[in-house]
Amino acid sequence: MQEKNINFFFNPINKVKGIGPKIQKILNTKKIETNIDLIFNFPFGLIDRTHCPKLNNLEVGKISTIFVKVKKYNFPRIKRLPNTVQCYDDTGEINIVFFNSRENYIKEILPLNSEIVISGKINIYKNKFQITNPDYVTSVSNEEKIAKIMPTYSSIKGVSNKTINKIYENIVSTIPDIDEWHRDELIKKSKWLNFKESLIDLHLPKNVEQLSKNSKAYERISFDEIFSNLLIFTQIKKKNSSIYKKPKNFTDNLKLKILSNLNFNLTENQKEIVFEIEKDLKSEKKMIRLLQGDVGSGKTIISILSAVNVISSGFQVALMCPTEILANQHLNLVKKLFKGTEILADILSNGIKKKEQNEIKNKLKNGEINFLIGTHSLFQDTVLFKNLGLIIIDEQHKFGVRQRIALSEKGGKNCEVLLMSATPIPRTLMLSTYGDMDVSSLNEKPFTKTKIITNVISESKIKDLINLIKEKIKKGDQIYWICPLIEESKKIKLTPVVERYEFLKNYFPDNTGFIHGNLKNEDKNKIMSDFLNKKFSLLISTTVIEVGVDNQNANTIVIENAERFGLAQLHQLRGRVGRGNLDGECILMYSKSISENGKKRMKILKESNDGFYISEQDLKLRGFGDIIGYKQSGEKDFVIADPTYHSHLFELAKTETDYYFNNNLPIDKFNLLLKFFKKDKILNIIDTG
Ligand code: ADP
Ligand code: MG
Repeated sequence: MQEKNINFFFNPINKVKGIGPKIQKILNTKKIETNIDLIFNFPFGLIDRTHCPKLNNLEVGKISTIFVKVKKYNFPRIKRLPNTVQCYDDTGEINIVFFNSRENYIKEILPLNSEIVISGKINIYKNKFQITNPDYVTSVSNEEKIAKIMPTYSSIKGVSNKTINKIYENIVSTIPDIDEWHRDELIKKSKWLNFKESLIDLHLPKNVEQLSKNSKAYERISFDEIFSNLLIFTQIKKKNSSIYKKPKNFTDNLKLKILSNLNFNLTENQKEIVFEIEKDLKSEKKMIRLLQGDVGSGKTIISILSAVNVISSGFQVALMCPTEILANQHLNLVKKLFKGTEILADILSNGIKKKEQNEIKNKLKNGEINFLIGTHSLFQDTVLFKNLGLIIIDEQHKFGVRQRIALSEKGGKNCEVLLMSATPIPRTLMLSTYGDMDVSSLNEKPFTKTKIITNVISESKIKDLINLIKEKIKKGDQIYWICPLIEESKKIKLTPVVERYEFLKNYFPDNTGFIHGNLKNEDKNKIMSDFLNKKFSLLISTTVIEVGVDNQNANTIVIENAERFGLAQLHQLRGRVGRGNLDGECILMYSKSISENGKKRMKILKESNDGFYISEQDLKLRGFGDIIGYKQSGEKDFVIADPTYHSHLFELAKTETDYYFNNNLPIDKFNLLLKFFKKDKILNIIDTG
């Protein structure tokens, strides 16, 4: 019985009454494929049709259900003019107004002199009450068909709201019973309903409170989601901590040599973390560590020193970056730092010729290359290392959870993993995002002397801005100028950058360049190195330079249409400047179409340069969303739970997972839960990886 019941949730939606091939197709494009997908899409509000006033008691704007008799039709037969039907009760009159409805249809649903129930919003026109395009019209005998309280689902293009409601009515009435997976104590203590009852409560709310994120039903389902997330991470962490490896064996010599090639001293914070990682490397357990630190906090050097330690113990290192530009920058840096050592570093990218790629692959296989840098092309099956001992992933938030976990599995037991991320996340989310690994935090920025000033200007002031930039260039500054991508159409995707370039070239002849993701690699590299070598002063760019790019001489960044970017992204972009000994300036230029929220984002950036504070403000402003940046990688941690409401559930889930793991209790009773929230796919990666 249980098994059949379970199957129900994973059945394709076309078995639900009301879903034919056409609607199925539409829902599939919304990633609604199985019953559980459909069920997890909860209504966001409700329409109360319980208000049944007499006609002398109508209130404008209120959804009302009225009982009336049909008196007279008025079909004007002039295009643009609506058909109206005059109705009455013993206290007054009302007009029911139809745009785009045929006369016959109206006569059919509203026969003269019949008693009818009509539901819709009351409005007023020329001093007379009316209902325009009523939501429901039915005979009095069918009155109960006008559900008194109806949930409202987000509308889906191509499916009418009525149909959506009907589909949900059907599916919700067939949700089967399933066994509880949580402990009785937990359910009782939290005063939760069981899974099925909670789902029904959320789809058939009796009042608005029941739909709120704080309702018992919503809490229960959110808890299930958070719990399943923590369960997976705890399981992975447990599995990882049972991996024994050959400890890395190295001295300080090579590291000291590299440090002597640096033109700065490490901060105390950086030294601590380098030491922490050295301890990991020398231990018998495989390292899986996240290095978290705000943009510009100096993570790169820590990873390079760790790499050098691994190399001096006879292993190879791979460093993966989200963009080619960043990969090249890292290569240039390590080449400088490795001067006078025997370490051979190289880059593997899709941009280089097949023949060269094959040469590099050979050198990797025989161990000649010690340090390989690249984008995700590093992890193709044809890239074989002789003895990979460390994988470093820079800007890991660009890659997404699954990819990250798959990569950590890739290297085998002797391969340590160091992830770096510049998106600070609120404490609540730490465990549910990075619960599978150890975390080091870089809290102190190396440049306490310099600051970044943020100014906000309107697009209409662009001429003033150009003058300002002229001044800056005269003083030797270099400037990034960012234009947003326009994604609606691939064809015109790059025009903002190129157009802006054509425009600014008039003001800064021979001193302007542009870059975007679709250029050839060689061209991208040339532009970036020319910019770095001060061959020109003004670089117009898309967000390809968003992550990691480090040019200490560029101290101004202009971000055009800043209102179109998210807070996290703006903060990252701003982090490109003020990286040397001079203050940086970030100029956010907004267009007329800026929204209220857009203005708030500008204000937050103006008042703070603290990534942690910004991420918390972001959370407040738009709820859980893009702060971790997973959106960019197409993955989302939570579909239902919302950390802005449910921080207590995160703590509870932690206590609960601890209970199972600390007592070594079996957790297979949660398998179904994991499947509901699609976490089982993550487990597949680690089981087969
Ligand atoms: P992120 O953490 O954003 O990756 P980077 O590692 O690129 O930051 O460092 C930003 C800049 O700070 C680089 O130019 C780097 O050389 C410099 N830097 C790093 N550590 C220090 C330090 N201890 N003192 C001075 N400059 C430093
Ligand atoms: Mg970086």
